[in-house]
Amino acid sequence: MTPLRAVKGMNDVLPDEVGRWQRVERVFARTVSLHGFREVRTPYVEPTALFVRAIGETTDVVEKEMYSFEHHDDSLTLRPEATAGAVRAYVEHGVQAREPVTRWWYAGPMFRAERPQRGRYRQFYQVGAEIFGDEGPGCDAELIDMLAGFLGELAVPGVEVLVNSLGGAEARARYRDALVEYLTPRAASLSAESQRRLQGNPLRILDSKDERDRTAVREAPTLDAFLDAGDKEHFEKLRSHLDALGTPYSVDTRLVRGLDYYSRTLFEIKGAHEKLGAGSTLVGGGRYDSLVADLGGPKVPAIGFAAGLERLLIASELQATARATDAVVLPIGAAAMSSALLLARDLRREGIRCEADTRGGSLKSQLRRANALGARVVLILGESELAEGMVQVKDLDAHTEERMVRAQVPRIVLDRLSAASRTIDSEPP
Ligand code: AMP
Repeated sequence: MTPLRAVKGMNDVLPDEVGRWQRVERVFARTVSLHGFREVRTPYVEPTALFVRAIGETTDVVEKEMYSFEHHDDSLTLRPEATAGAVRAYVEHGVQAREPVTRWWYAGPMFRAERPQRGRYRQFYQVGAEIFGDEGPGCDAELIDMLAGFLGELAVPGVEVLVNSLGGAEARARYRDALVEYLTPRAASLSAESQRRLQGNPLRILDSKDERDRTAVREAPTLDAFLDAGDKEHFEKLRSHLDALGTPYSVDTRLVRGLDYYSRTLFEIKGAHEKLGAGSTLVGGGRYDSLVADLGGPKVPAIGFAAGLERLLIASELQATARATDAVVLPIGAAAMSSALLLARDLRREGIRCEADTRGGSLKSQLRRANALGARVVLILGESELAEGMVQVKDLDAHTEERMVRAQVPRIVLDRLSAASRTIDSEPP
């Protein structure tokens, strides 16, 4: 029978790789909690209408990439991103009435029916955060600075922060008209996709990677000229805070990004260009001051970002530190099995990661497996040890071997491992 395979663009993460995933997730969780964010968990499935309203009907995500399905009389969609769900939850639970400023973070899978390639998948994981109730620009700068620090901790080479201001709805409408006016006489030279976008979503033409579109927009008006005084002041302040924090960034007046809900501050962080090439955007974020109200909530300003975990993992030079286990108990002979289970349990009660080799078998094969697991200590229980209430303790790193009194073993092993800071509680983030 032909074996079944995973769905195209949806990947397994096997235990050998999970160590690096967990390390990046721990660094993220620590970073955001140091900044006052609390974790929120929203469903993977939401009403289709939520994404259509939030992300925008004419965006690539909504037009082409959503996994939507009918269930009874509802149209539902696997979430392509998490901001829409977070805003829905914020409104639904009336959070604004309880707290003037809300800082939430999340991590989890997202689903987009894109053409899979390196760094682009159909199920992928994002970590992200949202701030509700603060119109910035102080928190905008803090968020960008936090992300620069996060990528630094992950040892991502070549980090580049790009910022822009999209202005408010009015500035964007004025700019949109000017862009359409500029591009309409040049429409024939645009790609077919952009010719279509000229009516629906002209700002997206600025995002196009197609050479014809890039040539056509080279001399096009830029957004900065259309910002009103309030937008300009917001952006200038953001820049001065970033300067004061010493966070390197550059202004990219053509940065627009794919989702419709953004206003004012917009940013993107790239890195590890050699490894990721054109897909080197690691983090995308921005302000969405009207989205909460657009989804039926109060008028509450907000800002957020999302980072792709797979891309962070390709970009990061951090290695997994975790070994599979610290200690392995080897029962030699059937009579030793219960004592091995007991000893392993006693070690775990000290916080030591420990396995008993419950297969039994020869000392040689059990030792081979303990080595493969990366254990530092093996504890051998043979016939004579059992009879004498002793354990043979082999330190695989220090290449030493001693017989010890059974009752003292958990403490002694703990002391050794702590000296090498290798228990589960002392692992680095
Ligand atoms: P977005 O939600 O489109 O603003 O994307 C934010 C970040 O999520 C990007 O910078 C990527 O790191 C990541 N990302 C977006 N789409 C994908 C995808 N299809 N596969 C992997 N990562 C993605």
